[in-house]
Amino acid sequence: MWQGEVRVDLDAVRENVGRLRGGTSAEVMAVVKGDGYGHGMVPAARAALDAGATWLGVCTLDEALTLRAAGFDTPVLAWLLAPGLPLAAGVAADVDLGVASLPQLAEMIEASRLADRPARIHLKIDTGLARGGATVADWPALLDAAAKAQADGLVEVVGVWSHFVYADMPGHPTTDRQLAVFHEGLAMVERAGLRPRYRHLANSAATLTRPDTHFDLVRPGLAVYGLSPVAGETYGLRPAMTARARVMLTKRVPAGSGVSYGHTYTTEGEANLAVVPLGYADGVPRHASNAGPVQLGGRRRIISGRVCMDQFVLDCGDDPVAAGDVVTLFGDGADGGPTADDWAEAVGTINYEIVTRFGSTRVPRVYD
Ligand code: PLP
Repeated sequence: MWQGEVRVDLDAVRENVGRLRGGTSAEVMAVVKGDGYGHGMVPAARAALDAGATWLGVCTLDEALTLRAAGFDTPVLAWLLAPGLPLAAGVAADVDLGVASLPQLAEMIEASRLADRPARIHLKIDTGLARGGATVADWPALLDAAAKAQADGLVEVVGVWSHFVYADMPGHPTTDRQLAVFHEGLAMVERAGLRPRYRHLANSAATLTRPDTHFDLVRPGLAVYGLSPVAGETYGLRPAMTARARVMLTKRVPAGSGVSYGHTYTTEGEANLAVVPLGYADGVPRHASNAGPVQLGGRRRIISGRVCMDQFVLDCGDDPVAAGDVVTLFGDGADGGPTADDWAEAVGTINYEIVTRFGSTRVPRVYD
C-alpha cells in the first residue's frame, strides 16, 4: 500500500522518443539530466535508447559516470563542468565533454594525459544565450587551440554545438539570428581545419518545430517525457509522469474554520476536509498553497491553505471523502485531471520544474 507515489509510464517515454525520431533524420540525444527531469535518469535513459535514441545528454560528470556505472555504453555528453573536476575519470569512461573556453580545453588536455587517451570534446559556441559557450569573439582562438590539440593527439573534436534562447516561441526572430551565428561558427570550424562528426543545436522545441536546426543530432529533453515546450500545443506527446497520494485523514469541521499554517484559507460552510500526505519535501511547491489543482472523487479541487513540508489539506465541502481515496496531483490529463502544465500555470513556473521537483524525493517512483 502506498501513501504517495510518482508513476512513470516508460511506454510513454518510448512512444515520445519514437515520435521525435520520426520527425527527423538526425540522431536523437535523449537529455536525462536532473534525474531524467524527475522521471529517474537510468530508467528514462533505458527507455529512450530502447526507442532508438543513440545518445544521452547530462549536465554533470557525476551523472555521466552514473550512466556508465549502470552499464550504458552509448555515447554520453556532459556539459556543465566547473574547474577542478576529475575529468580524467570521464575521459577514461569514454564520456564526451563540453568545452567552451581555453581553460576548459587545458583541463581536457590534462585529463587526456592522465587517462592516456584523447578526450572526446564538443566545442560550444554561444550564439546568443549568454550561458555556456564561447562568445563569437573567443571562438577563433578556441578553435585554433582545439585544432592543435587534436593534431597532437590530445583531444578528439567530436562535436560543435549551441543552445537556443527562444525556441519555445516558434517564429521568434532570435532563433533565426542564432541559427545564422551557428552557421558562421561552423564556417570558422571548417577554416580551422576541424571536421567534427556532430553539429547539434536543437532542444525539444526546435526538434518539434524547426527541422532546419536539426543538423546531425537533436537534443530533446522535455518532449522525451511527453511534455510540450510550446504553450497550447501537445505535438501528440504523452506525459509520462503521474503524481498521486492517498487521503490520510478526513474530518468534518464547522463553517469559518481556518486551515493549515497561518489560516490563509477559511471554510465557507461546514466542510469535509481531506488531509493529503504530500508536501514540499516531496516536490509539491509551497507556491501551490491555495492554488495547486488536484483531482479527487472525479472532481477538480484546489489545495486549501498552505502546503506544509509533508502534507496539505483539501476542502471537499459536502462531498463524501474517505481515508484512502486517491488524489491525483497531475498526470496525462486523459481523465480530465490536472496536468503538469496546469500546475505550472497555477504556481507561476514551467512544466519542466514541476516534474523535476518530484525526482529524488522520498516519494517512491513506480514504473509502468
Ligand atoms: N541541450 C541543453 C544544453 C540543455 O541545457 C537542455 C535543457 O535545458 C536541453 C538540450 C534539452 O532542452 P529541452 O528540455 O527544452 O528539450
